[in-house]
Amino acid sequence: MQAWAVVENGAPLQKLEWPTPVPSGTQILLDVTHCGVCHSDLHVWEGRYDLGGGRIMNLKDRGVVLPLAMGHEIVGRVAALGPDATGVAVGDTRIVYPWVGCGHCAACMADEDNMCLTPKSIGIFQNGGYATHVLAPHPRHLVDPGNLDPALAATYACSGITVYSAVRKVMPLPPDEPLLLVGAGGLGLSALALLKAMGHRNSIVVDISPEKRTAALAAGAAQVVDGGPEGVVARIMAAAGGPVGAIIDFVNGTASAAASFEALRKGGKLVQVGLFGGELRIPLPIMAMRALTIQGSYVGSVKDLRELVKLAQGGTLPGLPVTEVPMEQADSALMRLRDGHVTGRLVLRAEAA
Ligand SMILES: [Zn+2]
Ligand SMILES: [Zn+2]
Repeated sequence: MQAWAVVENGAPLQKLEWPTPVPSGTQILLDVTHCGVCHSDLHVWEGRYDLGGGRIMNLKDRGVVLPLAMGHEIVGRVAALGPDATGVAVGDTRIVYPWVGCGHCAACMADEDNMCLTPKSIGIFQNGGYATHVLAPHPRHLVDPGNLDPALAATYACSGITVYSAVRKVMPLPPDEPLLLVGAGGLGLSALALLKAMGHRNSIVVDISPEKRTAALAAGAAQVVDGGPEGVVARIMAAAGGPVGAIIDFVNGTASAAASFEALRKGGKLVQVGLFGGELRIPLPIMAMRALTIQGSYVGSVKDLRELVKLAQGGTLPGLPVTEVPMEQADSALMRLRDGHVTGRLVLRAEAA
């Protein structure tokens, strides 16, 4: 098999020849046909996250071993089954749920593998989809995309369920209750599409970029707010008619988190999704007196993936714009993402797909 692998953090991906794995136990080997290029791949490639206050989280200390084939938004065709794998057949096209764990704890057994304390995420802690082949640990991690475009279906494995899981955390909301979405990048725009499909009608979107605010209005935002630092909280409250009960922060940097926290009304909930980096200082009496909730949200479960695919198959969920790129161009695709030259999603496509 071939892999387009991170050999050294921050250095160009290298095309490597590896022995093709033979699936054992419940494992399934798939020929990768499509793999999305996700913003978090850049963190894996760089090998670190900024935790704020000058602190850095090194992925090497967390068990990420190089060389590594990144890529966690994978669609592939089943190529071989381990002796204990059932429920799929050679040739079946499947989305690979990548946020797998140990496979035997309570979280993993409940299909909430993303809450496992020993994550083995595909494309991060084990080889992923920037390759001709990938191993899935168990058939229950494979989801049938049905009639969906496989390039779009691949993106559901990360960006799709990240949005779905975050939106689920603020639901149910009355259709006209204001919901604040911070950041009108790919995740924010996907959230607008999802909320529309769910019948919610009053999303207010904050972004510092006028182009992105225009895109948010086109995607169905009821109102948009300039996220520039001076007076942003007052602008949010003017748009919402007061403090806000539900906020999803897709940026989650120091400035956006502080403004979001300040805009919360009594009993309000802030869901933090973005990995921009930084920190939030919380005035503790306010937290208690306003009975606030701050909840982090990281990717989603395989149940979320099944539900999202079902919703998308109903035809009411517009997909985000996807650009297909040959797998051979994995490195330049990653660099295009780093340099901010990507609208929507880049998806690597295998030669034979
Ligand atoms: Zn991702
Ligand atoms: Zn587990």
